[in-house]
Amino acid sequence: MKDAIRAGLPMPAAVAAAMLIVWAIAGSGWALAVLAGGALAIVAYHLVNIQRLTDWARGPLDADVPQGTGAWSDAFAALHRRARTRNAYQRDLRLVIERFRGAAEAMPDGVVALDDGNRIKWANPRAVEQLGLDLAKDRNQPIVNMVRTPEFLAYMESGRFGASILMRAPANHDRILSVQLVPFAVAEKLLLSRDVTEVEAVATMRRDFIANVSHELKTPLTVISGFVETLQDLDLDARQRDRFLQLMREQAASMQRLVQDLLTLSALESEHNPLAEETFAIVPLLLQVSADAKGLSHGAHAIELDVRDAAIVTGGRDELGSAFSNLVSNAVRYTPAGGRITLGWRIGPDGRGIFSVTDTGIGIGPEHLPRLTERFYRVDRSRSRATGGTGLGLAIVKHVLLRHQADLDIASEPGKGSTFSVRLPAARVRQGPDTGEILPAAAGESAAAGPVP
Ligand code: ADP
Repeated sequence: MKDAIRAGLPMPAAVAAAMLIVWAIAGSGWALAVLAGGALAIVAYHLVNIQRLTDWARGPLDADVPQGTGAWSDAFAALHRRARTRNAYQRDLRLVIERFRGAAEAMPDGVVALDDGNRIKWANPRAVEQLGLDLAKDRNQPIVNMVRTPEFLAYMESGRFGASILMRAPANHDRILSVQLVPFAVAEKLLLSRDVTEVEAVATMRRDFIANVSHELKTPLTVISGFVETLQDLDLDARQRDRFLQLMREQAASMQRLVQDLLTLSALESEHNPLAEETFAIVPLLLQVSADAKGLSHGAHAIELDVRDAAIVTGGRDELGSAFSNLVSNAVRYTPAGGRITLGWRIGPDGRGIFSVTDTGIGIGPEHLPRLTERFYRVDRSRSRATGGTGLGLAIVKHVLLRHQADLDIASEPGKGSTFSVRLPAARVRQGPDTGEILPAAAGESAAAGPVP
């Protein structure tokens, strides 16, 4: 027998028993009255429970199931079990949705969910920021009304979503976004956006670099091949031939310098070329750089070395030497004959080692200063070429200094001259006597020491 029927039997059975007892004692009239009263009580009991069930079903979803008695206790208990299972299921579902939303919000890329009419249903904070959306106002608006860049409109119009497109971020025109539409379910779509500004900048730099190198190599090559043809075709006298050969040699030397600088740069950038952490006295290195400068100048400039403090430096001796030489070579090349060039070295009050090159040369306009260390950036292209410049000198300096955690400071005034200062971190510099024989007599350890000729 079913549980509910079994549980519901005692009440009618009790009424029937009461009716029979009353019949035996008081006759059929009273027995009928007991039967009617009992039936009414049973109907009232069921009506009350039906009302409780209706109230519960109409109430809030999480309302407790009422407690029942008799036939209703099993029914309410079964409902109670069902409600508990449903609540647990909903809780799990809510957790999954919350976790999914949390993951979508934490994504470094933008995500916008679109419905079948390309209307915005949801967007994560990154998409809001990149696409300039305001979910409070833009929800349910067509995406093409909110993102109006021509590339994006053409993409949406095309209906070809197999590849991504690049476009300027609507909210910030300095940033470049890669955007792709990914259809899912029946007609819904996800719009994915990624900020690729840095990646694009690297790609542009690489393209520019290759174009620059090709151009730099093409010029001397064209000159050389022109001279070769002339030498082959024309019957030149010995003096003319020597002149042409000399010019070809200069062009070949310029190509050699360029290739050498490119190799130096790539070695400086290579992960497989860690910095040699040597400990060396700075003064001998400065004397060597100063001697090289004098050789380069051929006596056209007054070159001074002003060493204020003897010091021991930790780093790559050859690398720092090449960076210092590049600065000194620039000073010689961009200072007209008769000018003055001063190489200085001192330890600042903060313990940093400062190497400076001051010239009385052509100087540099302030608009060029931020770009000077870019590869192939030149203020005066023809002067750079005429003096054997590759346009890579300051890029090499920048890389060497980066490897030493050092800074380059440039102060310059057109027509007056420039000062390039290298600041080595205090951790790389130790004030201390150089070995006696290499410390120049005039360069003492005190700040009062004068320039070294
Ligand atoms: P380059 O081989 O052309 O000298 P660099 O990278 O060494 O290349 O320098 C970049 C540019 O900075 C030069 O072309 C020049 O215009 C400018 N420059 C560098 N040093 C000086 C200086 N001491 N005085 C004036 N201009 C300079």
